[in-house]
Amino acid sequence: MIKAEQMSLNTATVKEQCNLRQAIDLCARYGIGGIAPWRENLKECGLDEANRMIQDQGLRVSGLCRGGMFTLENQLSQNILDNNKKAVDEAVAIHAECLVMVVGGLKPNSKDLIGSRKQMEEGLFKTLEYARTVKMPIAIEPLHPMYAADRACVNTLKYALDICDGMGAGIGIAVDVYHTWWDPELKSQIKRAGKERLLAFHLSDWLMETKHFLLDRGMMGDGVIDISRIRKWMESESFEMLNEVEIFSAENWWKRDPDEVIRICIERLAVC
Ligand code: ZN
Repeated sequence: MIKAEQMSLNTATVKEQCNLRQAIDLCARYGIGGIAPWRENLKECGLDEANRMIQDQGLRVSGLCRGGMFTLENQLSQNILDNNKKAVDEAVAIHAECLVMVVGGLKPNSKDLIGSRKQMEEGLFKTLEYARTVKMPIAIEPLHPMYAADRACVNTLKYALDICDGMGAGIGIAVDVYHTWWDPELKSQIKRAGKERLLAFHLSDWLMETKHFLLDRGMMGDGVIDISRIRKWMESESFEMLNEVEIFSAENWWKRDPDEVIRICIERLAVC
């Protein structure tokens, strides 16, 4: 049974209700073990203040969201690389356990998926080289294939792990059940990843009647994902990270009282 202290709150779950300070307060009130902020959250109050608030509550930081987007321009510009270097520095400053990478989709106005992937891998490797010098683990988050065009051209754990194996140490994967539950190779790729490359575990649910593919994620238990089975696969690789709850839900959970959202997250984690 998963307890509150094994949960991390991805701030996207209460995006419309809470700023960073309020999200941290929520975690403190319910005994939640960790938080996963977005870079926008760090801008609200500044990096030092964000770090101080997080450390004052003794929260772990299961990840910083996010670096990546290596294909926003047709070339891998200095601007893109600098922004990723900055993301690494921010992750270090708040003692994040990894920097999550949403790598980017197709290059602008292009159908060049192969070229986009090549550019993405180059950007990832350059960022990894820097991240190694400051010991910040990089976590590639494969996104569901429906986002291949606009968000991430890494869509399976297998491809993410092929990239990791090509690059060596300091890089692994974030397993988000929303993005990966459908994959026939999910179990075997989690096993392949092993403890060393399993850096984060993101939870929500896939609603049978999904109304919006970005902003209608379900609460754990309301959809069709067998979360406890996937968690068992993670645990059999001795995965010890927090269960990070990341629910984008414009029409439902973002409209509710944040205390109610958190209470239900905790209840559902205990049974899912
Ligand atoms: Zn995620």
